Amino acid sequence: MARPVLGSALLVLFSISAAFSLVSGDGWPRVCIIGAGIAGSSLSHFLKDYSGGAVDDIVILERNGVVGGRMATTTLAGDTFEAGATILHPKNLHALNFTSFLGLKPSAKSAAAAAASSNGSSASSSWLGIWDGSRFVFQTLPPPPDSSSALYKKIHSILNSFLLFRRYGLSLLRMQSFVTRTVGKFMIYYKDLASRPVFESAEEMLRWAGLDGLTRRTLQEALAEAGLSPLLISELVTVITRINYGQNVDMSGLAGAVGLAGSESGLWSVQGGNWQMASGLIKHSNATLNLHEEITSISYKEGQYELRSKRGNQYLCGVAVIATPLDELNISFSPPISVPSRSLQHTHTTFVRGLLNPGYFGLNSESEIPNLVGTMEVPEVPFSSIAVQRKYGEKDKAYKVFSRSKMEDVLLDQIFGVRTETVRIDWPAYPHYSAPEAFAPYILDGLHLYYINSFESAASTMETSAVSAENIARLILSRISEDAPATACRERIFPRESHLHVDL
Ligand SMILES: Cc1cc2nc3c(=O)[nH]c(=O)nc-3n(C[C@H](O)[C@H](O)[C@H](O)COP(=O)(O)OP(=O)(O)OC[C@H]3O[C@@H](n4cnc5c(N)ncnc54)[C@H](O)[C@@H]3O)c2cc1C
Repeated sequence: MARPVLGSALLVLFSISAAFSLVSGDGWPRVCIIGAGIAGSSLSHFLKDYSGGAVDDIVILERNGVVGGRMATTTLAGDTFEAGATILHPKNLHALNFTSFLGLKPSAKSAAAAAASSNGSSASSSWLGIWDGSRFVFQTLPPPPDSSSALYKKIHSILNSFLLFRRYGLSLLRMQSFVTRTVGKFMIYYKDLASRPVFESAEEMLRWAGLDGLTRRTLQEALAEAGLSPLLISELVTVITRINYGQNVDMSGLAGAVGLAGSESGLWSVQGGNWQMASGLIKHSNATLNLHEEITSISYKEGQYELRSKRGNQYLCGVAVIATPLDELNISFSPPISVPSRSLQHTHTTFVRGLLNPGYFGLNSESEIPNLVGTMEVPEVPFSSIAVQRKYGEKDKAYKVFSRSKMEDVLLDQIFGVRTETVRIDWPAYPHYSAPEAFAPYILDGLHLYYINSFESAASTMETSAVSAENIARLILSRISEDAPATACRERIFPRESHLHVDL
């Protein structure tokens, strides 16, 4: 059930501290957050912000020695690259707000650079080739030389659009409007707090935005209904879903649409690494961060949660929040909880410094291989994409390869003629999406054990984690206030006009 947030004048009449003293004699309960990715860090931020600083005992427990989770960089031959979440959409308003609030710098990537350096794949301005395992079935034009004039670059981009249009026709426009419609519906999650309910489940949250239907259909079904041709779906759309989610068009429609949005223009990332958003938000919310602290059990006893870590430490908290997917974790719960089973799609990210082997692609020269090799859903193709990250010289480049299984040395030695350095990461990357999606509860035990990553069954991005975390922050504040003695008013939790919008 959605919780209405009343914007009555009553709100401004009560001071926040008065509301808090109604909740508990000695302040708000300690909130323990498991996971220091964007979900855990933005929850910490929103709790602090929306409570006007009254929630001031937040403990974040992180199993790794660094924060950021799936926002992480790696080093290849001395250069730093985003190894996990890379690209943000221009309409990712929380990420934009975090970046400016924390004084970080967005790096405005050209679509071409985004396509080559991330899981973005804007086809019209990058040199994209679609590989079917034996040939490139479609290619855009090689990039113009850096020294070309602005006019030349513009003509080049128009020609690429023409090539795409010639192959896929009006379906391209239908794809664009499908993505625009979906992104438009998502924007409702940034509406002012006064007119936006607090949601008790992910399903309810999706229903309110009119996005739930897409989680019950495959992307293929949704796109066919939107009038896209089978050729566009099996080629360009499949290339994008394989790059962005390691999956094909059988994935559920909402995650698929979000993946397609990651091929639009205006994509950006945080200079120096997206993980800095997590680190900055944790610092600013004054939370206590305990690294190398893997939680192995959560028990509810006498009105509080007892969290135990692998190192034998114990934490007592009034509220416990899981800010990581539970699917591959081994946390024991007492009393037990029940969540629908969900498998994660593993994405193997392999960075290679060297040079591709043109022979592997049936070509004579490496210079004929597109900067972004996308692939169709053909079982024999052993990788999802290969993208040039940086050029050090004509015969020395850094590449990022995405694949569903590990790229063994034997295989890499077929694909690359030269390989001077290799870095491999096996990510439990995102849910393996299939329609209809089932969602775990936001409130796992009917009390104060919350699960942010339930929303990841809709789509997995930095922004969707932040959007879900913001709702959970409001849910916690609202429910704790409700648990207080009868005189406590739920609406007092947003007492100041300044807290009725999400600007930071
Ligand atoms: C290769 C790849 C590419 C991607 N590309 C993009 C992209 O371009 N754009 C985009 O928006 N998204 C992208 N994503 C998705 C994005 O990374 C995630 O949706 C988002 O970062 C999830 O954040 P989170 O905080 O919810 O989870 P996580 O980032 O996974 O954070 C969870 C944290 O919890 C910790 N943890 C887990 N278990 C325990 C435990 N028992 N005790 C203590 N701590 C624990 C983990 O160590 C981790 O730090 C990509 C993901 C991958 C893997």
